[in-house]
Amino acid sequence: MAYSYDDQNIFAKILRGEIPNDTVLETAHCLAFRDIAPQAPVHVLVIPKGAYVSYDHFAAEASDAEIADFTRAIGEVCRLCDLHGGGGEGGFRVISNAGPHASQEVPHLHVHVLGGRPLGGLLA
Ligand code: C5P
Repeated sequence: MAYSYDDQNIFAKILRGEIPNDTVLETAHCLAFRDIAPQAPVHVLVIPKGAYVSYDHFAAEASDAEIADFTRAIGEVCRLCDLHGGGGEGGFRVISNAGPHASQEVPHLHVHVLGGRPLGGLLA
């Protein structure tokens, strides 16, 4: 299928520096910044710099370097924000909404990294 990307979406504007953001991490292929309406003490969005609308678009068209960088950046954000999922206290949740069934608001691939409090069950 052909994916269509709207370069006027708000995250594209953030990537172009047209709108400010609270950056947590920048890598060669990704930007991570704090969500403007946090749902948890830690709520960070990780986005690729490339023009991808959703995870399936990304998996279909991104390079291995972009995919590796994105995956590593998500884990690095967790570490930078003191969210530890490897046993013991704490933990985090990583979510990516895609398309109308998931109520995706911004049509640029992003994952939400949430943590800093108990998050309840999967659909809580
Ligand atoms: O996954 P979904 O597309 O629904 O989430 C978009 C997220 O982008 C929301 O959590 C919203 O608060 C966030 N956002 C932001 N900065 C903006 C616009 C939206 O952090 N300028």
